Amino acid sequence: MPVDKICGMKVKEDTPYKSQFQGKTFYFCSAGCKETFDKNPLKNSR
Ligand SMILES: [Zn+2]
Repeated sequence: MPVDKICGMKVKEDTPYKSQFQGKTFYFCSAGCKETFDKNPLKNSR
């Protein structure tokens, strides 16, 4: 199960909140977490 890099929650892969970065897909629990990631994906993808 993927983990939301912003808040650490486990998320389902069918979430509507996801982003592509450097060829990987990142999943989020909410629009807010996705937005935070999208503002600084380089920092938040680590
Ligand atoms: Zn989250």
